Amino acid sequence: MKLKGRYGQYGGFYVPEVLIPAIEEIEAAYLRFQKDPAFVGELNSLLADYAGRPTPLYHARRFSEQTGFAVWLKREDLLHGGAHKTNNALGQGLLAKYMGKKKLIAETGAGQHGLATAMVGALFGMETKIFMGSIDVARQNVNVHKMKLLGAEVIPVSGGTGTLKDAINEALRYWTANVEDTFYLFGTAGGPHPFPMIVRQFQSVIGREARAQCLERIGRLPDVVAACVGGGSNAIGIFSGFLNDSSVRLVGIEGAGRGLETGHHCATLNKGAVGILHGAQTYVLQDADGQIHETECVSAGLDYPGVGPEHAYLKDSGRAEYVAVEDEQVLDAFEMLTRLEGIMPALESSHALAWLLSQKGLLPSRTVAVVNLSGRGDKDVGIVEEHRPMG
Ligand SMILES: *Cc1c(COP(=O)(O)O)cnc(C)c1O
Repeated sequence: MKLKGRYGQYGGFYVPEVLIPAIEEIEAAYLRFQKDPAFVGELNSLLADYAGRPTPLYHARRFSEQTGFAVWLKREDLLHGGAHKTNNALGQGLLAKYMGKKKLIAETGAGQHGLATAMVGALFGMETKIFMGSIDVARQNVNVHKMKLLGAEVIPVSGGTGTLKDAINEALRYWTANVEDTFYLFGTAGGPHPFPMIVRQFQSVIGREARAQCLERIGRLPDVVAACVGGGSNAIGIFSGFLNDSSVRLVGIEGAGRGLETGHHCATLNKGAVGILHGAQTYVLQDADGQIHETECVSAGLDYPGVGPEHAYLKDSGRAEYVAVEDEQVLDAFEMLTRLEGIMPALESSHALAWLLSQKGLLPSRTVAVVNLSGRGDKDVGIVEEHRPMG
Protein backbone atom coordinates (compact mmCIF):
# COMPACT_ATOMS: atom_id res chain seq x y z
CA MET A 1 0.00 0.00 0.00
CA LYS A 2 2.90 2.31 0.62
CA LEU A 3 3.54 2.01 -3.12
CA LYS A 4 0.54 4.23 -3.83
CA GLY A 5 1.18 7.89 -4.55
CA ARG A 6 4.77 7.41 -5.66
CA TYR A 7 6.98 9.76 -7.63
CA GLY A 8 9.83 7.39 -8.42
CA GLN A 9 11.13 6.30 -5.03
CA TYR A 10 9.51 9.30 -3.28
CA GLY A 11 6.13 9.84 -1.65
CA GLY A 12 3.98 7.05 -0.22
CA PHE A 13 2.13 7.20 3.09
CA TYR A 14 4.02 6.30 6.21
CA VAL A 15 1.33 6.98 8.80
CA PRO A 16 -0.07 5.29 11.92
CA GLU A 17 -2.46 2.43 11.10
CA VAL A 18 -5.47 4.33 12.50
CA LEU A 19 -5.09 7.08 9.89
CA ILE A 20 -5.17 4.77 6.89
CA PRO A 21 -8.98 4.59 6.60
CA ALA A 22 -9.20 8.42 6.78
CA ILE A 23 -6.52 8.83 4.15
CA GLU A 24 -8.24 6.33 1.88
CA GLU A 25 -11.56 8.10 2.41
CA ILE A 26 -10.03 11.43 1.32
CA GLU A 27 -8.38 9.82 -1.70
CA ALA A 28 -11.61 8.14 -2.81
CA ALA A 29 -13.65 11.32 -2.29
CA TYR A 30 -11.12 13.37 -4.21
CA LEU A 31 -11.04 10.93 -7.15
CA ARG A 32 -14.84 10.97 -7.26
CA PHE A 33 -15.55 14.70 -6.82
CA GLN A 34 -12.74 15.88 -9.06
CA LYS A 35 -14.92 14.54 -11.93
CA ASP A 36 -18.24 15.68 -10.47
CA PRO A 37 -19.61 18.67 -12.46
CA ALA A 38 -21.33 20.10 -9.38
CA PHE A 39 -18.08 20.08 -7.37
CA VAL A 40 -15.97 21.41 -10.23
CA GLY A 41 -18.51 24.12 -11.03
CA GLU A 42 -18.77 25.25 -7.40
CA LEU A 43 -14.99 25.34 -6.99
CA ASN A 44 -14.51 27.30 -10.20
CA SER A 45 -17.06 29.90 -9.23
CA LEU A 46 -15.50 30.27 -5.78
CA LEU A 47 -12.07 30.68 -7.35
CA ALA A 48 -13.47 33.40 -9.62
CA ASP A 49 -15.97 35.30 -7.47
CA TYR A 50 -14.65 34.74 -3.96
CA ALA A 51 -10.90 34.55 -4.53
CA GLY A 52 -10.46 36.72 -7.64
CA ARG A 53 -9.13 34.34 -10.30
CA PRO A 54 -7.67 34.52 -12.85
CA THR A 55 -4.78 36.43 -11.30
CA PRO A 56 -2.96 38.75 -13.73
CA LEU A 57 0.35 38.14 -15.47
CA TYR A 58 2.26 41.42 -15.18
CA HIS A 59 5.33 42.56 -17.10
CA ALA A 60 7.60 44.13 -14.46
CA ARG A 61 9.45 46.50 -16.80
CA ARG A 62 11.46 48.48 -14.25
CA PHE A 63 12.50 45.31 -12.43
CA SER A 64 13.44 43.79 -15.81
CA GLU A 65 15.92 46.64 -16.38
CA GLN A 66 17.79 45.31 -13.33
CA THR A 67 17.96 41.71 -14.58
CA GLY A 68 18.66 42.58 -18.23
CA PHE A 69 15.86 40.28 -19.45
CA ALA A 70 12.05 40.28 -19.32
CA VAL A 71 10.47 39.34 -16.01
CA TRP A 72 6.74 38.68 -15.79
CA LEU A 73 5.01 38.20 -12.44
CA LYS A 74 2.17 35.73 -11.91
CA ARG A 75 0.25 37.76 -9.35
CA GLU A 76 -0.84 35.25 -6.70
CA ASP A 77 -0.21 38.11 -4.24
CA LEU A 78 -3.51 39.55 -5.50
CA LEU A 79 -5.49 36.44 -4.61
CA HIS A 80 -7.93 36.88 -1.69
CA GLY A 81 -6.00 36.16 1.49
CA GLY A 82 -2.77 37.48 -0.04
CA ALA A 83 -1.15 34.24 -1.18
CA HIS A 84 -1.62 31.16 -3.35
CA LYS A 85 -2.72 29.19 -0.25
CA THR A 86 -6.36 30.15 -0.93
CA ASN A 87 -6.49 27.92 -4.06
CA ASN A 88 -5.77 24.82 -2.01
CA ALA A 89 -7.80 25.80 1.05
CA LEU A 90 -10.91 26.37 -1.10
CA GLY A 91 -10.39 23.07 -2.93
CA GLN A 92 -9.87 20.94 0.17
CA GLY A 93 -12.48 22.86 2.18
CA LEU A 94 -15.06 22.17 -0.52
CA LEU A 95 -13.96 18.52 -0.59
CA ALA A 96 -14.51 18.35 3.20
CA LYS A 97 -17.97 19.86 2.71
CA TYR A 98 -18.89 17.33 -0.01
CA MET A 99 -17.63 14.57 2.33
CA GLY A 100 -20.00 15.83 5.04
CA LYS A 101 -17.20 16.84 7.45
CA LYS A 102 -17.97 19.63 9.90
CA LYS A 103 -14.54 20.20 11.46
CA LEU A 104 -11.28 21.36 9.91
CA ILE A 105 -7.77 21.25 11.29
CA ALA A 106 -4.62 22.63 9.71
CA GLU A 107 -1.00 23.42 10.49
CA THR A 108 0.59 26.74 9.74
CA GLY A 109 4.06 28.29 9.78
CA ALA A 110 4.03 31.96 8.79
CA GLY A 111 0.27 31.87 9.21
CA GLN A 112 -0.78 32.14 5.56
CA HIS A 113 -2.16 28.62 5.36
CA GLY A 114 -3.83 29.00 8.75
CA LEU A 115 -5.39 32.22 7.53
CA ALA A 116 -6.62 30.61 4.29
CA THR A 117 -8.09 27.68 6.24
CA ALA A 118 -9.75 30.02 8.75
CA MET A 119 -11.31 31.97 5.84
CA VAL A 120 -12.67 28.77 4.35
CA GLY A 121 -13.86 27.57 7.78
CA ALA A 122 -15.84 30.82 8.11
CA LEU A 123 -17.15 30.54 4.55
CA PHE A 124 -18.42 26.99 5.00
CA GLY A 125 -19.41 27.37 8.67
CA MET A 126 -17.00 24.71 9.91
CA GLU A 127 -15.31 24.53 13.30
CA THR A 128 -11.63 25.24 12.62
CA LYS A 129 -8.52 24.54 14.69
CA ILE A 130 -5.11 25.78 13.58
CA PHE A 131 -1.93 24.27 15.01
CA MET A 132 0.98 26.69 15.06
CA GLY A 133 4.44 26.52 16.63
CA SER A 134 4.74 28.78 19.68
CA ILE A 135 7.70 30.67 18.18
CA ASP A 136 5.68 31.32 15.02
CA VAL A 137 2.68 32.46 17.11
CA ALA A 138 4.95 35.08 18.64
CA ARG A 139 6.61 36.24 15.43
CA GLN A 140 3.51 36.21 13.19
CA ASN A 141 0.99 37.67 15.53
CA VAL A 142 -0.97 39.73 13.03
CA ASN A 143 -1.94 36.51 11.25
CA VAL A 144 -2.81 34.90 14.60
CA HIS A 145 -5.17 37.77 15.35
CA LYS A 146 -6.76 37.51 11.88
CA MET A 147 -7.36 33.76 12.30
CA LYS A 148 -9.09 34.40 15.62
CA LEU A 149 -11.24 37.17 14.10
CA LEU A 150 -12.29 34.64 11.45
CA GLY A 151 -13.50 32.36 14.23
CA ALA A 152 -10.69 29.79 14.26
CA GLU A 153 -9.05 28.46 17.39
CA VAL A 154 -5.26 28.84 17.29
CA ILE A 155 -3.43 26.15 19.23
CA PRO A 156 0.19 27.03 20.05
CA VAL A 157 2.56 24.04 19.91
CA SER A 158 5.54 24.39 22.20
CA GLY A 159 7.30 21.04 21.59
CA GLY A 160 10.52 20.82 19.55
CA THR A 161 11.56 24.18 18.09
CA GLY A 162 8.05 25.62 18.17
CA THR A 163 7.88 25.93 14.39
CA LEU A 164 6.08 24.37 11.41
CA LYS A 165 7.51 20.86 11.76
CA ASP A 166 6.19 20.65 15.34
CA ALA A 167 2.82 22.08 14.32
CA ILE A 168 2.46 19.30 11.71
CA ASN A 169 3.43 16.65 14.27
CA GLU A 170 0.78 17.94 16.67
CA ALA A 171 -1.89 18.24 13.95
CA LEU A 172 -1.21 14.63 12.89
CA ARG A 173 -1.45 13.53 16.54
CA TYR A 174 -4.74 15.38 16.99
CA TRP A 175 -6.08 13.92 13.73
CA THR A 176 -5.19 10.41 14.88
CA ALA A 177 -7.38 10.89 17.96
CA ASN A 178 -10.25 12.68 16.17
CA VAL A 179 -10.23 11.11 12.75
CA GLU A 180 -13.97 10.29 12.70
CA ASP A 181 -15.31 13.80 12.23
CA THR A 182 -12.27 15.90 11.33
CA PHE A 183 -10.76 16.80 7.95
CA TYR A 184 -7.05 17.61 7.95
CA LEU A 185 -6.61 20.44 5.44
CA PHE A 186 -2.92 20.05 4.64
CA GLY A 187 -1.13 23.17 3.44
CA THR A 188 1.53 22.10 0.99
CA ALA A 189 2.28 19.54 -1.71
CA GLY A 190 3.96 17.26 0.83
CA GLY A 191 2.97 14.90 3.62
CA PRO A 192 1.42 11.48 3.03
CA HIS A 193 -0.40 10.49 -0.16
CA PRO A 194 -2.93 11.71 -1.30
CA PHE A 195 -1.99 15.25 -0.15
CA PRO A 196 0.84 15.82 -2.65
CA MET A 197 -1.51 14.81 -5.50
CA ILE A 198 -4.49 16.82 -4.22
CA VAL A 199 -2.59 19.99 -3.37
CA ARG A 200 -0.79 19.92 -6.72
CA GLN A 201 -4.13 19.62 -8.49
CA PHE A 202 -5.71 22.51 -6.59
CA GLN A 203 -2.64 24.68 -7.25
CA SER A 204 -2.28 23.67 -10.90
CA VAL A 205 -4.71 26.45 -11.85
CA ILE A 206 -1.70 28.80 -11.49
CA GLY A 207 0.25 26.97 -14.19
CA ARG A 208 -2.71 26.55 -16.54
CA GLU A 209 -3.50 30.26 -16.37
CA ALA A 210 0.16 31.30 -16.65
CA ARG A 211 0.77 29.18 -19.76
CA ALA A 212 -2.32 30.50 -21.55
CA GLN A 213 -1.50 34.09 -20.51
CA CYS A 214 2.06 33.74 -21.87
CA LEU A 215 0.79 32.53 -25.24
CA GLU A 216 -1.77 35.31 -25.40
CA ARG A 217 0.32 38.21 -24.05
CA ILE A 218 3.86 37.34 -25.13
CA GLY A 219 3.02 35.14 -28.10
CA ARG A 220 5.24 32.31 -26.94
CA LEU A 221 6.17 30.13 -23.99
CA PRO A 222 8.62 31.56 -21.45
CA ASP A 223 12.23 30.36 -21.32
CA VAL A 224 12.29 30.15 -17.54
CA VAL A 225 9.63 29.57 -14.89
CA ALA A 226 10.84 30.31 -11.35
CA ALA A 227 9.18 29.78 -7.97
CA CYS A 228 10.24 29.59 -4.34
CA VAL A 229 10.13 26.19 -2.66
CA GLY A 230 9.19 25.59 0.96
CA GLY A 231 6.99 22.49 0.92
CA GLY A 232 6.63 23.10 -2.80
CA SER A 233 2.96 23.87 -3.47
CA ASN A 234 3.23 27.19 -5.31
CA ALA A 235 6.17 25.84 -7.32
CA ILE A 236 4.45 22.60 -8.36
CA GLY A 237 1.32 24.63 -9.11
CA ILE A 238 3.08 26.75 -11.72
CA PHE A 239 5.55 24.04 -12.90
CA SER A 240 2.68 21.65 -13.66
CA GLY A 241 1.53 23.93 -16.50
CA PHE A 242 4.91 23.64 -18.25
CA LEU A 243 6.17 20.13 -17.38
CA ASN A 244 5.56 18.85 -20.90
CA ASP A 245 7.16 21.88 -22.56
CA SER A 246 10.75 20.69 -22.65
CA SER A 247 12.04 24.10 -23.83
CA VAL A 248 10.92 25.71 -20.55
CA ARG A 249 13.50 25.68 -17.76
CA LEU A 250 11.90 25.09 -14.36
CA VAL A 251 13.80 26.56 -11.43
CA GLY A 252 12.86 26.12 -7.77
CA ILE A 253 14.51 28.46 -5.28
CA GLU A 254 15.17 27.52 -1.65
CA GLY A 255 16.38 29.56 1.29
CA ALA A 256 20.16 29.48 1.74
CA GLY A 257 19.61 31.53 4.91
CA ARG A 258 22.93 32.78 6.24
CA GLY A 259 24.81 30.53 3.77
CA LEU A 260 24.65 26.86 2.78
CA GLU A 261 27.96 26.18 4.54
CA THR A 262 26.87 27.80 7.82
CA GLY A 263 24.19 25.19 8.55
CA HIS A 264 21.66 28.02 9.07
CA HIS A 265 19.43 27.56 6.04
CA CYS A 266 16.18 26.02 4.70
CA ALA A 267 17.64 24.35 1.58
CA THR A 268 16.20 20.84 1.76
CA LEU A 269 16.72 19.84 -1.88
CA ASN A 270 20.20 21.38 -2.00
CA LYS A 271 21.51 20.01 1.28
CA GLY A 272 19.14 17.25 2.42
CA ALA A 273 19.29 13.47 2.11
CA VAL A 274 16.60 10.91 1.41
CA GLY A 275 14.55 10.07 4.49
CA ILE A 276 10.99 9.95 5.81
CA LEU A 277 9.26 12.98 7.29
CA HIS A 278 5.56 13.59 7.98
CA GLY A 279 4.40 10.48 6.20
CA ALA A 280 6.41 10.64 2.97
CA GLN A 281 9.76 9.56 1.64
CA THR A 282 11.54 12.63 0.31
CA TYR A 283 14.59 14.82 0.81
CA VAL A 284 14.95 15.77 4.47
CA LEU A 285 17.40 18.04 6.28
CA GLN A 286 18.92 15.61 8.75
CA ASP A 287 22.24 14.61 10.24
CA ALA A 288 23.99 11.26 9.77
CA ASP A 289 21.85 9.70 12.55
CA GLY A 290 18.62 10.81 10.88
CA GLN A 291 18.04 13.59 13.43
CA ILE A 292 16.04 16.40 11.80
CA HIS A 293 18.03 19.61 11.37
CA GLU A 294 16.85 22.99 12.54
CA THR A 295 15.96 25.18 9.59
CA GLU A 296 16.63 28.87 9.66
CA CYS A 297 15.99 31.51 7.03
CA VAL A 298 14.50 34.99 6.85
CA SER A 299 11.14 33.72 5.63
CA ALA A 300 8.98 31.67 8.01
CA GLY A 301 7.04 30.18 5.09
CA LEU A 302 10.12 28.34 3.80
CA ASP A 303 11.21 27.22 7.26
CA TYR A 304 10.59 23.48 6.80
CA PRO A 305 13.08 20.57 6.81
CA GLY A 306 11.15 18.48 4.23
CA VAL A 307 9.82 19.03 0.72
CA GLY A 308 7.03 17.64 -1.46
CA PRO A 309 7.97 14.28 -3.02
CA GLU A 310 7.32 15.34 -6.61
CA HIS A 311 10.06 17.96 -6.31
CA ALA A 312 12.47 15.28 -5.05
CA TYR A 313 11.61 13.31 -8.17
CA LEU A 314 11.91 16.29 -10.53
CA LYS A 315 15.31 17.08 -9.05
CA ASP A 316 16.64 13.56 -9.54
CA SER A 317 15.20 13.33 -13.05
CA GLY A 318 16.74 16.69 -13.97
CA ARG A 319 13.45 18.12 -15.29
CA ALA A 320 13.60 20.89 -12.69
CA GLU A 321 16.63 22.46 -11.02
CA TYR A 322 16.79 23.66 -7.44
CA VAL A 323 19.05 26.47 -6.32
CA ALA A 324 19.29 28.52 -3.13
CA VAL A 325 19.70 32.22 -2.35
CA GLU A 326 20.90 33.86 0.87
CA ASP A 327 18.88 36.10 3.21
CA GLU A 328 20.73 39.27 2.19
CA GLN A 329 19.92 38.67 -1.49
CA VAL A 330 16.29 38.06 -0.54
CA LEU A 331 16.06 41.36 1.35
CA ASP A 332 17.68 43.17 -1.60
CA ALA A 333 15.12 41.65 -3.96
CA PHE A 334 12.24 42.58 -1.62
CA GLU A 335 13.46 46.20 -1.60
CA MET A 336 14.05 46.24 -5.35
CA LEU A 337 10.54 45.10 -6.36
CA THR A 338 8.96 47.37 -3.75
CA ARG A 339 10.88 50.47 -4.86
CA LEU A 340 10.80 49.86 -8.61
CA GLU A 341 7.31 48.46 -9.12
CA GLY A 342 5.32 49.50 -6.05
CA ILE A 343 4.66 45.82 -5.35
CA MET A 344 5.67 44.47 -1.95
CA PRO A 345 6.41 40.76 -2.36
CA ALA A 346 6.31 38.15 0.40
CA LEU A 347 9.81 37.24 1.61
CA GLU A 348 9.14 33.71 0.33
CA SER A 349 8.45 35.01 -3.20
CA SER A 350 11.44 37.35 -2.89
CA HIS A 351 13.65 34.24 -3.03
CA ALA A 352 12.61 33.67 -6.64
CA LEU A 353 13.14 37.36 -7.47
CA ALA A 354 16.60 37.22 -5.87
CA TRP A 355 17.61 34.32 -8.09
CA LEU A 356 16.50 36.23 -11.20
CA LEU A 357 18.61 39.21 -10.11
CA SER A 358 21.58 36.83 -9.71
CA GLN A 359 21.18 35.81 -13.36
CA LYS A 360 21.96 39.29 -14.68
CA GLY A 361 24.54 38.90 -17.44
CA LEU A 362 24.16 35.09 -17.36
CA LEU A 363 20.84 34.78 -19.18
CA PRO A 364 20.58 36.34 -22.66
CA SER A 365 18.59 39.58 -22.99
CA ARG A 366 15.92 37.88 -25.13
CA THR A 367 15.05 35.63 -22.15
CA VAL A 368 11.47 35.67 -20.94
CA ALA A 369 11.13 34.63 -17.30
CA VAL A 370 7.89 34.07 -15.41
CA VAL A 371 8.01 34.21 -11.62
CA ASN A 372 5.29 32.94 -9.36
CA LEU A 373 4.76 35.89 -7.03
CA SER A 374 3.29 33.54 -4.42
CA GLY A 375 2.18 36.18 -1.93
CA ARG A 376 2.21 39.77 -0.78
CA GLY A 377 4.67 41.13 1.73
CA ASP A 378 2.45 42.97 4.21
CA LYS A 379 3.00 40.22 6.79
CA ASP A 380 6.76 40.69 6.48
CA VAL A 381 7.27 44.43 6.95
CA GLY A 382 8.24 43.95 10.62
CA ILE A 383 10.89 41.36 9.72
CA VAL A 384 12.28 43.57 6.95
CA GLU A 385 12.42 46.50 9.40
CA GLU A 386 14.37 44.34 11.88
CA HIS A 387 16.99 43.46 9.25
CA ARG A 388 17.05 46.78 7.40
CA PRO A 389 16.00 49.53 9.84
CA MET A 390 14.96 52.70 8.01
CA GLY A 391 15.94 54.92 10.96
C1 LIG B 1 3.38 29.26 2.43
C2 LIG B 1 4.03 30.12 1.44
C3 LIG B 1 5.10 29.66 0.64
C4 LIG B 1 5.74 28.32 0.81
O1 LIG B 1 4.90 27.24 0.60
P1 LIG B 1 4.97 26.34 -0.71
O2 LIG B 1 4.12 25.17 -0.37
O3 LIG B 1 6.42 25.96 -0.92
O4 LIG B 1 4.46 27.14 -1.83
C5 LIG B 1 5.59 30.48 -0.34
N1 LIG B 1 5.10 31.73 -0.52
C6 LIG B 1 4.10 32.23 0.25
C7 LIG B 1 3.64 33.62 0.01
C8 LIG B 1 3.54 31.44 1.25
O5 LIG B 1 2.55 31.93 2.00
